[in-house]
Amino acid sequence: MRLTAARLNPKYFVDYKCGILVSFVGRRGVFSINLPCRQWGCEECREQVIVCHIKTISDLFNELKCVQVFVGYRDEKEKKLSNFINKNVSGHYCRINGQDKAVIISDRNFDGARRYDKRKFLECELPKILNQPWKEKRRISFSSGWKKPRKKQQPKYWAISFRNIRDEFNKLSTDKERKDWLCNKTNCRLTQLGEEFVKQDTTIKNTLDVFPKGKEKGRTN
Ligand SMILES: [Zn+2]
Repeated sequence: MRLTAARLNPKYFVDYKCGILVSFVGRRGVFSINLPCRQWGCEECREQVIVCHIKTISDLFNELKCVQVFVGYRDEKEKKLSNFINKNVSGHYCRINGQDKAVIISDRNFDGARRYDKRKFLECELPKILNQPWKEKRRISFSSGWKKPRKKQQPKYWAISFRNIRDEFNKLSTDKERKDWLCNKTNCRLTQLGEEFVKQDTTIKNTLDVFPKGKEKGRTN
């Protein structure tokens, strides 16, 4: 079965802990980092997560020409809150879920909202809102189509591992040895690129070399 980028995300691994050493194995060797979990509920990562979201939300509102924003605190949860937004909020909006109330920030006025100077709100109020406790996953959402999703890229490495494998991998000197090492499931998990690499047959190159010109498409060496 083909591993998707999501399944290769270390956070989906059973034994994943914040700051765990993760090694990425590729053609150029091994690159290891202590990978942060970047969860709201993590004491180590929390501050960085907040800074990141302040930037994202501020950038989006700063791209809009408005000088004011409209902010409403709502008691409704889930579907009722979505219904309220659909009926009442006509502009772009950012919704921040909270333990007690959700906050809706929009560039247009809506029922129950209070007016703020945009710059002051983003600098002073937004950090306070995001600093309130939150341990769950889904906290922030935006009006549809406003925040463009990041393009998912296929990993450019062959495999990831949770062991310190730098020394043992660097000892391998031929592609044959690297393929055998990568095929051992206790060492690592392969990406699609890794699967393609281990399936590559070194004899293919010779076969392709004798093909007439123009028929070399798909050559992967
Ligand atoms: Zn963390």
